[in-house]
Amino acid sequence: MTTMTQSAMSLTERDAVIEEIAARVGVRAERGRRFAELTSLRVGGAIDWVFAPETEEAAAAVAGELEAAGIAWRVLGAGSNVLADDEDHHYVVVSMREVKGTALFEGERVSVSAGYSLPRLCVDAARRGLAGIEGLGGIPGTVGGALWMNAGAYGHEIGNVVETVRVARGGRVVNVRGGEISWNYRHTSFREGELLLGVTLRLRKDDSAKIVERMAEVKRQRMETQPHGARSAGCFFKNPPGSGLSTGKMIDEMGMKGEKRGGAVVSPVHANFIVTEGDDARASDAFALAEEIRERIRRERGIELEYEVELWRSSDTREAAGTTSGEETQGGQSTTDAEEQRG
Ligand SMILES: Cc1cc2nc3c(=O)[nH]c(=O)nc-3n(C[C@H](O)[C@H](O)[C@H](O)COP(=O)(O)OP(=O)(O)OC[C@H]3O[C@@H](n4cnc5c(N)ncnc54)[C@H](O)[C@@H]3O)c2cc1C
Repeated sequence: MTTMTQSAMSLTERDAVIEEIAARVGVRAERGRRFAELTSLRVGGAIDWVFAPETEEAAAAVAGELEAAGIAWRVLGAGSNVLADDEDHHYVVVSMREVKGTALFEGERVSVSAGYSLPRLCVDAARRGLAGIEGLGGIPGTVGGALWMNAGAYGHEIGNVVETVRVARGGRVVNVRGGEISWNYRHTSFREGELLLGVTLRLRKDDSAKIVERMAEVKRQRMETQPHGARSAGCFFKNPPGSGLSTGKMIDEMGMKGEKRGGAVVSPVHANFIVTEGDDARASDAFALAEEIRERIRRERGIELEYEVELWRSSDTREAAGTTSGEETQGGQSTTDAEEQRG
């Protein structure tokens, strides 16, 4: 485990190693960034280092070097599904936002890097008359973030159209067939700390105008049912798998829409969205409100809600230790009910 090595190093020693790695691989390494700038909830504490590789090869090399040196790290895409706590996070964040390149279309296939914007990819595909991801057009974030958790909405999940995923292993780019991965409800079998570099999707030909029309319909539905322009991370909790229950509906029925704790609010538009407001909003406000919702649902409905948003705790160094050698995978349960997936 890489953190054991890190804990044996002083922070000064570790910083020197980090600077050396950044120089050797040729990636930008920044200090002084905060999760509040890098996540859509706009809260969260300071990050020791942010690495910003620009190519798949550089990202793979960074991951390999950090692992070899025993430095704790984790990956961030656009930060639209992460709630990081307010404390100082003593690890390296590898930001994939600059690993975007261009989307390369060939017939029904498209190859794209992990940092590419998912909404933009959906528009690109629709213009070329390629169907299969139009339901995902309103999901903010990067292609890598969508792959990591098998993002989905309105009957589409990204895992359904994956042909191969490019993954960093041992500092190199390795191809993994989509069929070797389990694509479940907001979970995949990628291993904790595995860095996804890019993907080839297999779409299907359809009439461009019809795809654009379906995208517009999905957008209309989102505008009607979800807060827009708000600082959120999408649905905070999963729907209880296999139950047919909607978490948003349950929270609404408890009368919690509009409930506020500090700078965190249960959205009056969609009860499964927690949004943050004001300059003083803190991650702890959102945590407190979320835990209150879970406690009430546990007490009143006997249901244990599972987070859909990822909680990144500064104390959770085990998960921060990026490693591709461990056997640990994301957990996972499966459902194909598209309605259920939207919370
Ligand atoms: C308004 C709104 C609506 C949303 N609606 C939906 C929806 O309908 N359906 C849905 O599924 N989600 C939805 N989301 C959640 C979010 O947009 C998705 O989960 C998205 O795929 C996250 O992508 P990201 O790049 O922002 O990932 P991040 O939030 O940056 O990261 C999320 C997780 O993915 C990991 N990750 C990111 N990139 C990589 C990579 N290259 N390699 C390995 N791991 C990586 C991170 O380590 C983290 O564990 C919504 C969010 C918002 C704000």
